[in-house]
Amino acid sequence: MDKYKDVSPFVIIKSDVTRRSFIYTDRALGALDKSKHQYQQRVLIGSNGDENAAVPVSLLLRDGTSIIGMPSKTAKNPYVVDQIDGKLVLTDQGEIVEEVHYWYKPDYYDKFTSSGTPMWQVASSRPQRLEIDPNSHCHFWNKGNGCKFCNINANSAQSEKECNMSKQLTAQDVYETVKEALKQPGAFTNIKMSSGSILSGAEIFDDEVDMYIEMLQAAGDNFKDKKFPSTIVASAFSEKQLARLYENTGLMTYTSDIEIPNEALFAWICKGKHKEVGYAEWKRRIIRAVDIFGAGNVSSGIVGGCEMAQPHGFTNEDDALKAVLEEAEDFASQGVSIVHCVWVPMHGSAFHNQQNPSLEYYVRLAKGLSDLRKKYRLNVDMDNYRKCGNHPDSDLDRGNLE
Ligand code: SF4
Repeated sequence: MDKYKDVSPFVIIKSDVTRRSFIYTDRALGALDKSKHQYQQRVLIGSNGDENAAVPVSLLLRDGTSIIGMPSKTAKNPYVVDQIDGKLVLTDQGEIVEEVHYWYKPDYYDKFTSSGTPMWQVASSRPQRLEIDPNSHCHFWNKGNGCKFCNINANSAQSEKECNMSKQLTAQDVYETVKEALKQPGAFTNIKMSSGSILSGAEIFDDEVDMYIEMLQAAGDNFKDKKFPSTIVASAFSEKQLARLYENTGLMTYTSDIEIPNEALFAWICKGKHKEVGYAEWKRRIIRAVDIFGAGNVSSGIVGGCEMAQPHGFTNEDDALKAVLEEAEDFASQGVSIVHCVWVPMHGSAFHNQQNPSLEYYVRLAKGLSDLRKKYRLNVDMDNYRKCGNHPDSDLDRGNLE
């Protein structure tokens, strides 16, 4: 932290806790209050938890920075969340690092839709954003070409088996859950939808676009105005598909993830995306989305550090960082923000045995991406610390305000 005085210590802690993972002591788990805290969730990638354990879904630091993740039983050097002198704290080798809080549970969480679906299974709650993932199955996996860092189909299959959690949502459940969530004053400022890629349709992704139109219209029926604060994290749609989506829904911002900002590594790690669409075309489509949504309203996610996966990734952190930031600048200069998550070699993904880079790599990556937004005067409001909370670089944007 002494070396990077211009980077928030909270963001450095977040990056390290995410890359090394964490576990809870029994005392810390005893502090979980099921009536107040979130302990069940539906996520696309990561873990929905296991059948019987009541585990906090995420952590919050004192400045509002979130640490999004589930404890890992296989982490080699995890942080430990403990309760000491009545406070929840992160500890490292027995030393207290920082105070943490569990995420509060919104009012709608324990309610049910008219079809009997628990509303927490329809919408998860990030700090101030409703997360609705209408389809937890990715077609790229069908031919064995899922992205190598991703565990979506393994996670959704486990949740369906153990928790009876459906992979697909219905529009009526979405409508009713959004309606209920909006009754809590000031709780939410944005709705995000995401899905595994759906390749079918006359043109690739046509059925995915139809699904988003149906679900966004259902959510939008709760608003008086046509447009409402919303985003999707979706496949790279053609201009025709984006126009259809924009005209028929209240959607205001758009994300499609380039994942690995390097063509050769994208071809290896995101084989399905490269085979069906290709790196150059995936990138071109994201940039063209700016024509529809406007500069600052389009972003693209990268799996920070995955460019160092072996045997084909970079072996030197300086080289990797240089390549990533150069490509990120090319996006930024054309109106697209690149945001990163910290790569966690997850159980259920092809890369589960890999090693992520050093903490210093993540500090430099977060600072570099945030600086690019400052340079190109982009904001990434839909992915900020209160809405998404998963990107160390957009957490740092709080310091970029002029
Ligand atoms: S496109 Fe890749 S990252 Fe996205 S859900 Fe499918 S396999 Fe996972």
